[in-house]
Amino acid sequence: MLHIKRISQITLLGAPALEAAPGVIHAFSTRRAEHNEFTLGPNSSTNPAIQINRSRFLAAAGMPGWPLLKLNQTHSGIVRRMVDTGAANEPFEGDAAVTDVRGAALGVQTADCVPILIADRLGRAIAAVHAGWRGAAARIAQNTVYRLVEEYRVSPSDLVAVIGPHNAACCYEVGEDVVEVVGDPESFVRRPDWPKPHFDQALANQRQLRQAGIPERQIIVSNLCTHCRSDLFFSYRREGGRAGRLLAIIGLVP
Ligand SMILES: [Zn+2]
Repeated sequence: MLHIKRISQITLLGAPALEAAPGVIHAFSTRRAEHNEFTLGPNSSTNPAIQINRSRFLAAAGMPGWPLLKLNQTHSGIVRRMVDTGAANEPFEGDAAVTDVRGAALGVQTADCVPILIADRLGRAIAAVHAGWRGAAARIAQNTVYRLVEEYRVSPSDLVAVIGPHNAACCYEVGEDVVEVVGDPESFVRRPDWPKPHFDQALANQRQLRQAGIPERQIIVSNLCTHCRSDLFFSYRREGGRAGRLLAIIGLVP
């Protein structure tokens, strides 16, 4: 479960399991601050209000003034290793990032897709993942765990993963083409009263994280649906191109 906190008038979510990792700081944003339009993206926006919102969110999360390492997210399976803070200025193409750099935040933007934050229980390395159906098809969650193990010699049994708020199986209707591309039929829900299958994005990613070796009890899944909870979240399905962006961030204290 994730808990809701209100810090400096900003409502954000966190998971106790990640807070227990020494030196690891994280947060999932909501749309709520003074007003209900606390958007943190897209990255390409030149709107100064978004830059201010990001700074405020980083500070409220406990990472004041830290550089935010950005990804140009394209629903790919690409995992980037961040070795310095260069990506704070020039975003890297990719949909997941791993690092052991301290004093910088990794972040992924979503508006219905799944944000996943991962940390080593001993605080040696972290990851942030953007995984919608295309990311699930590319097995980006699983590949991010493999990359953490390869780069930082951590054991999957020492990793904690938190699957944040996303468009859940209650609302995420998809076509049969998506079932085919994702290639994991068990992650789709079919009901007689539903004309089309619904994708359980959390389950698909949870299965990949488990297959990569993270124990089930160390995978925390938010039960909040971005489509149902218009009071808390932006949703691309509900709001279309006008939808704001949520940001999930994770960092290691210097
Ligand atoms: Zn829903």
